[in-house]
This record gives sequence, C-alpha cells and structure tokens, in this order.
Amino acid sequence: MTTTLLLIIIAVAVVVLGGGISLLVGRRRAELPPPSVLDEITEETIEHPEHPEPHLPDESAPVDEPPAATTTDVLERPESPAGRLARLRERLARSQGSFGKGLLAVLGRGTLDDDAWEDLEDTLLTADVGVAPTQELVANLRARLRAEGVVDPSLARSALREELLALVGPSLDRRLSSTGDDGRPGVVLVVGVNGTGKTTTVGRLARVLVAQERSVVLGAADTFRAAAADQLQTWGERVGVPTVRGPEGGDPASVGFDAVQRGIADGADVVLVDTAGRLHTKSGLMDELGKVKRVIEKQARVTEVLLVIDATTGQNGLTQARVFGEVVDVTGIVLTKLDGTAKGGIVVAVQRELGVPVKFVGLGEGADDLAPFDAEDFVDALLA
Ligand code: GDP
Repeated sequence: MTTTLLLIIIAVAVVVLGGGISLLVGRRRAELPPPSVLDEITEETIEHPEHPEPHLPDESAPVDEPPAATTTDVLERPESPAGRLARLRERLARSQGSFGKGLLAVLGRGTLDDDAWEDLEDTLLTADVGVAPTQELVANLRARLRAEGVVDPSLARSALREELLALVGPSLDRRLSSTGDDGRPGVVLVVGVNGTGKTTTVGRLARVLVAQERSVVLGAADTFRAAAADQLQTWGERVGVPTVRGPEGGDPASVGFDAVQRGIADGADVVLVDTAGRLHTKSGLMDELGKVKRVIEKQARVTEVLLVIDATTGQNGLTQARVFGEVVDVTGIVLTKLDGTAKGGIVVAVQRELGVPVKFVGLGEGADDLAPFDAEDFVDALLA
C-alpha cells in the first residue's frame, strides 16, 4: 500500500517536472529566430546594416516579366568618349614611341645635312606615312629651318610638330554624322574586311552613343557568320541596346531594312549596321553594299559610312581602303589596333587615299578602348 502510494507520488513528480522543463525549452526557442533566418545572416548583411529587405514578388504581377531592377542592375555604364583619348594617350605614346623618337633623334643632331634629311624621310616612310606626304613634310621642314637658320633642337621640334599636325589635318570635321532627317534615326553603316575589328567597332560605337545618352538599335547585316550576329547581340545586351538579326545566310539588305524599321518604330536616335566584309570580288562587294545602302534609304538616309581599317596591315589596309572607296561612299575611317603597331603614319596615308578623315581609333581590346580621334593629341603622343 505504502509502496503503491510512493510509486504514484514519484510518477506525478516526473510528469510535473518534465512538463516544466519542456515549457522552459519551448520559451527559450521562441526567443531565438528560426534556424532558416539565422542561416541567411551573411557577412554582407552584417557589414551593410542598411541592406534592404529582399524584394518579395507581388503576386498580382505577371510572372514572366523580369523585375525592372534586374535588367538595369546588369547594364554597364560605358565611359564618356570625351576623356578617352587622354586615358589612352599613354598607350598611343608607347606604341608610337619609336616613330616619334626616330624623328626627334634626327632633329636633335644639331646639323641637318643631307644624311639627316634622308634619315628623317626613312623614318616617316617606315611609319607608313606614305611617299607623297613624306616628301611634302621634309620639303616644308627643310625650307622652314633653312629660311629661319634654325638648328636649335627645341625649335626644330616645334616646327616638326606643326608640320606633322598640318599633315594629319587639325581642322577636319571628325564628328560622327548620326543625326537623321525629320525625326528619323541617323543610320551609320560600318564596312570593312573581316578581321579588321568591324563588329567590335559597331559594339563600341553603341557604347559611345549610349554614354552620350542616345538611343541605339543594332543591325546584324553580316548574315554570313552567325558568330558575328551573336557577338553583336552580346555587345548590345551589355548596354541595353536591341539587335535586329536575320536568318544565317539571309539577305543582308533585308536585315538592314528591318533594323532601320525597328529604329523608326522605337523612335531611336541612331541605327548602327554591321555589314559582311568578304572581299571576294569587287563587283560582288559593290552589289552587296550598294544594295544594303539602297534598301535602307527607302526608309532613312544613311548619314555615315565608316570604313574600318586594321592599322597593323600597312599597305594591305590601304589597298582595302581603295577598293571600298570605289564601291561605297565612305565618309569616315575607323583605324583599329593602333595599339599594336608603331606605324601610326597610316593615319595620314589612309586619309589621303580616301580624302575623308579618321574619326575613331582603336587602342586596345577593352570595351571602351575606342576613342574619338584628335589630331593634336595624336601628334603630341607621337612626340611625347
Ligand atoms: P571583324 O571580323 O572585322 O568583325 O572583327 P572583330 O570585331 O571580330 O575583331 C577581330 C579581333 O580584333 C578581335 O579579337 C578584337 O578584340 C580585336 N580588336 C578590335 N579592335 C582592336 C583594337 O583597337 N586593338 C586591339 N588590340 N585589338 C582589337
């Protein structure tokens, strides 16, 4: 009997104690955040207490539209073109160092005899300035220095600077012509042989224009290489610019037409059209580029035809310039890969060949390594 009573008392005590403990544990648990929340406290949230609450989707919003913030977050902000040549000046000076140094070394000799003038001529020719401009510069410099009786190296240097500047053309209009008529977009046709950096240039020009807050549409009229259209589209996506493309092997003119149509529909400022650059036969090229231009102009005027030339190709680049100049009305030149050659004289030669100015120069592989060309900056970098 006593034993039974004792057992009952022990059982009651166990129940009461157990309940108390579990109540206590339960209360402690309630004071702590649930484990899933703890897991989410990352270093980032600790270091940035102002970290906003995660955005919860609004259930009434359509689910297939990505939130606007996602798109703008990934867009790149291209560098403003104004300061680019200043940033790239060092690179230009480095690549053109031997050209500039060669010229200055000859003038620094003090006595300018026939050998010295010949050396000066050789240096200019080696840098691809071209025969006629070289002879012109040497003749002018010779006349000036003799007339003034000057052999002082610093004065000779400033005379050289002026003569080089005169060759490069400080007063040429190098602005990209990209303003259309009657509210229509300006159309820039980019032509050149494959491998010169044409598609890269179109992508970089889109960045130049976006940095100037202009709206752009890209046309991938190089339909012969699917990779070119993909490459262009990627450039566009990085800065929020749409790319109009057609089926592989399709008609380049129809892609050009569609791109301009899209540009008009979107109210875009500029349509940039990449073209195919197979230098098969001159008549084939003429037919193709002529047709692209004609078809585009049913809707909007082509405001600029840019020819892309690879600066490292020397005489070959000049031959390309000649052929393209004959088949299409080139209005400006883009000289790429100037960072990869000491032959900056091609700026002078190619302008002479086509009678149109160099408007942009490529000075590296970076997305913003395309700079508006400036004659004074160029000559100063040469003689730095
Ligand atoms: P496309 O065939 O004419 O369209 O040529 P791409 O645009 O595909 O360019 C060919 C190669 O040249 C790519 O590897 C580019 O990165 C490179 N390239 C273009 N412009 C420049 C430049 O200014 N400097 C250097 N170093 N490379 C460049």
